[in-house]
Amino acid sequence: METKMKKTGIYRDFQTYHPGEVVKVDVVVIGSGCGGATMAYELSKKGIKVALLEQGGNYHTGTFDNNELNMAGKVSAERNFHTTSDGGINLVYGNNLGGASVHYWADSYRTPNDRLLLWNRKYGIDHHLPEDLDPYWNELETDLHVSPATEEYFNPMNRLFRNASQRLGWEGHAVPQARKNCQKSGHCMQGCLFGAKQSQLITHIPNAVRLGTDVYTDLRAEQLEIVGNKVKGLKAVVMDRRTLRPTQTKIEFQCKAVCVSAGGFGSSKFLLKNGLKKRYPALGEFLAINPSPMVHALYEEPIVQWRNIPAAYGVEGFRLAKYQNGSYKEGGYMLMPNQLQPATLAALLPSFGNDHFVYMKQLEFLGGTIGWIDDVEGELGSIDVDFFGKTKVNYPFGKTTKQIFSDLTYKQMKLNFEAGAKEVFLAGMKLRKFTKLPKKEEIDALAWRPAEFPMAAPHPAGGCRMGKSIDHSVVNSKHQVHGFQNLFVADSSVFPTGVSVDPSFTIMAFSKKASEFVAEVI
Ligand SMILES: Cc1cc2nc3c(=O)[nH]c(=O)nc-3n(C[C@H](O)[C@H](O)[C@H](O)COP(=O)(O)OP(=O)(O)OC[C@H]3O[C@@H](n4cnc5c(N)ncnc54)[C@H](O)[C@@H]3O)c2cc1C
Ligand code: SF4
Repeated sequence: METKMKKTGIYRDFQTYHPGEVVKVDVVVIGSGCGGATMAYELSKKGIKVALLEQGGNYHTGTFDNNELNMAGKVSAERNFHTTSDGGINLVYGNNLGGASVHYWADSYRTPNDRLLLWNRKYGIDHHLPEDLDPYWNELETDLHVSPATEEYFNPMNRLFRNASQRLGWEGHAVPQARKNCQKSGHCMQGCLFGAKQSQLITHIPNAVRLGTDVYTDLRAEQLEIVGNKVKGLKAVVMDRRTLRPTQTKIEFQCKAVCVSAGGFGSSKFLLKNGLKKRYPALGEFLAINPSPMVHALYEEPIVQWRNIPAAYGVEGFRLAKYQNGSYKEGGYMLMPNQLQPATLAALLPSFGNDHFVYMKQLEFLGGTIGWIDDVEGELGSIDVDFFGKTKVNYPFGKTTKQIFSDLTYKQMKLNFEAGAKEVFLAGMKLRKFTKLPKKEEIDALAWRPAEFPMAAPHPAGGCRMGKSIDHSVVNSKHQVHGFQNLFVADSSVFPTGVSVDPSFTIMAFSKKASEFVAEVI
């Protein structure tokens, strides 16, 4: 009896492209992060032929070297130096096969029901209610080996964090983690060379390839070919891996649908560069970034924050902001232990010269915490593209955001002191050192400008907001760009606001849902 083998897909890179090559597939998916990889996998399961395009390189786990500077160069967009246009916030995201999931922390939260209901009630989003996404959670948790962190994954900072937050009576939990056979090396942000962290690189991408998806790395999607209200294909340019600049080699795709999954910054940029702002005033608007301020602390006992997993325990009791008579009162953030590798920690520690040297000498005793601000709905940012084609990210840091920033910083100081820190200091150029918890008013009185307090923004969302009307949103509830039958967006850029928890699971669940609508037009 003859056994029919299913045709697997192939991995291609800059060495394999021919100038003028034309590729015919059913669907082109732009971007290989949580959004794009999940989409490719779901479509492949349905027998649909997918080309998965990724502008960055294909660095498999065997190429990882656990060196934070080497890895930032390989897998971080703009080599980790991209900031908001005022230079205040460091924007961290992926530029490689697997996208930001290759250097994410693997915290894997289901979307809180209150957020899905808000998006439905206030922004008119259908098909993404709790009952619509429910079937996907078990599937994702099984495929990505998600379970709450157990005791062996609590490093000293996590243990101190958990015990202190429990003494303070703050609601917390062991963080659900996407890992299998984790070796506790602490290099999650540099890419896991053990293949333990369940990034897209080792989960949805190989699963999609097994089912027929072809992967095109070092290839940047550039120009959509639009005829009427239909997309017929797109042009892409081969990227030079060494300089990350476009080469002269272009190839063309002909397809029945395009799904833009280029990430929270990339999808808006791609559609803006295709001249769609005139048609969609909301394009690039309503950008959430989860600004993530941190606090450092010096302990009596060794912390060695760069070993074991980053966040085994989190505080979610302050996730939703509380208001009284319309004024901000408290909360609006997630709170976690921090993990920074030595070079990044050195860059973020306040002070210069001898002061800095003194802290670096005590590196293993340094711990700290971090929190993600749930962006305030009325104070969101925007993306545009400058004359040179570079992404400009503007974030206003409005009045309420500043209040949240201050409250989050104060809570972090309180927690570190409760955990036994002998000194607590704020991230920044200037050394702001505390040996006991100051009064809240003293902290509130600081100038809460992001440039004063360096912070990262690892969770972009919005820019291609989902909604009902073309005046206020870019895609409809079926992820179709308004007015187009076969142009879709599936990644964090469609979220009307931030997710309020780490977003990777929401992105994947949305892609699973979106794949049903893409399949309808093939
Ligand atoms: C340090 C760090 C830690 C994090 N930790 C967590 C965590 O613990 N839990 C969690 O849930 N989330 C975490 N996140 C966030 C999470 O990783 C991202 O939100 C998620 O991976 C984004 O997926 P995405 O598909 O939307 O975009 P991305 O992962 O950004 O993927 C988009 C891809 O598209 C590519 N691309 C862009 N433009 C083009 C183009 N024109 N042509 C071809 N390719 C293009 C990009 O190179 C990129 O690889 C973390 C992020 C960072 C940076
Ligand atoms: S801590 Fe675990 S998941 Fe993270 S890099 Fe090390 S082995 Fe991989």
